[in-house]
Amino acid sequence: MVHFVGAGPGAPDLITLRGAALLRRADVVIYAGSLVNPALLEKTRRGAQIYNSAEMTLEEVLERMRQAETQGQDTVRLHTGDASLYGAVREQMDALDALGIPWDDTPGVSSFCGAAAALGAEYTLPGVSQTLILTRMAGRTGVPERENLPALAAHGASMAIFLSSGRMEAVQQALLEGAYREDTPAAIVYKATWPEERVVRCTVGTLAAAGAAAGITKTALLLIGDFLGTDYTRSKLYDPSFTTEFRKGREA
Ligand code: SAH
Repeated sequence: MVHFVGAGPGAPDLITLRGAALLRRADVVIYAGSLVNPALLEKTRRGAQIYNSAEMTLEEVLERMRQAETQGQDTVRLHTGDASLYGAVREQMDALDALGIPWDDTPGVSSFCGAAAALGAEYTLPGVSQTLILTRMAGRTGVPERENLPALAAHGASMAIFLSSGRMEAVQQALLEGAYREDTPAAIVYKATWPEERVVRCTVGTLAAAGAAAGITKTALLLIGDFLGTDYTRSKLYDPSFTTEFRKGREA
């Protein structure tokens, strides 16, 4: 059987208990070597066969899984963060279905959660934004035209931009074509939850310059929006005057 496992954003203790248990038992581990923290591989059992998928094609990954299955072995396919975001996981699942190889999927802590933790931020701040857009800038890999960054930026919602820290000039320009202002708060979070994590706070107008000054060109998330600012309203849920299913509110 093949177990897709979300490795979490970096820190080895941010894999789930289920993911760690699967990793400990695996006969074969295929990990996304460009981003998965190698410290996680210390959790594997002695004698486990370990492969770095950064050096493999989809066909090679599938062939390795197929061989393991033939020998009755369990494979863990370790993806960074959560596999459902930019994980190229669906094509593997569909191919395994076609081969008749069973699989399951264990979610992970995505890097956008790790980055919020690094910043002490809440994406869905009352009175500011109730929407988080997870996206990327078009690059060598395309993005559907209707999802181009200026179009998404028109909402002015909280935004976490993946896979785009090598093109911060273009990102900045696209954001300014939308609803963000030069002074809209922004942050660059490099390697969230890794020992070498770095947080650079800036604004949309200074994004590219701040990234260049910090020398960050990869493995970073660009976070945009007024949720990084100081103004918001308090939540209704914990307001003394607000009645919920679990608590009777006091009249003001
Ligand atoms: N599935 C992953 C995303 C893989 S795409 C997830 O859920 O997080 C790879 C991109 O994710 C990187 O280019 C970067 O933008 C982001 N990323 C992954 N790990 C990161 C980390 N620890 N800190 C900041 N950004 C990270």
